[in-house]
Amino acid sequence: MVKKSVMIVEDEEDIFKLLQYNLTREGFDVDGMSRGDGAVDAIARRKPDLVLLDLMLPGMGGLEICRLLKGKPETAGIPVVMLTAKGEESDVVVGLQMGADDYVVKPFSMKVLLARLQAVLRRREQVPVLADAILKVHDLTINPGRHEVLCGKSAVELTVSEFRVLHFLARRPGWVFTREQIVDGVKGLDYAVTDRAVDVQMVSLRRKLGKRGDLIETVRGVGYRFRE
Ligand code: CA
Repeated sequence: MVKKSVMIVEDEEDIFKLLQYNLTREGFDVDGMSRGDGAVDAIARRKPDLVLLDLMLPGMGGLEICRLLKGKPETAGIPVVMLTAKGEESDVVVGLQMGADDYVVKPFSMKVLLARLQAVLRRREQVPVLADAILKVHDLTINPGRHEVLCGKSAVELTVSEFRVLHFLARRPGWVFTREQIVDGVKGLDYAVTDRAVDVQMVSLRRKLGKRGDLIETVRGVGYRFRE
């Protein structure tokens, strides 16, 4: 497994050392900064897998750093977890609105912090790098920009949600997704997609894909996958 890298921006030395020790032990590559100014450039240069960001920092505050990171295309995709103190709730809300992925309140339990980091990283891995790229898998061509699916040369008429579900699965052939992950993955639609609705859509998708309906496999007791 490739080591994940974490950039910790934290001016309190004790907290930094505690984080550094525990994250290194968990297999992360740890890098750190104790000032806010220069953090944005350093993060843009090193492109860590995740940023742990204190809010009260000398030089530049964490919220400003978060705003700048999320505003630059080259750093916008790097997950940010804020380290906050009690009483900073309104800053937390601002940070989340700016695109921070999660937050942990000090003093935190290392177990909770690690669980949050892993969850953020997992979520991030499900996000496609090129969401708009045309996908060609088996004899299907999926064009997200045009919302079009071709099976061989013939167009397959799908509803918006069927299209999103198919695109979500086909981006990672062979990966098994639970119904819940599929629901999460196609969020952003105007109407709710429930676990039951996922099953209904799979039936409909398979029917519409005709002889290639077999590309969507049921993994008993778990969920669905697109054939590898
Ligand atoms: Ca601080």
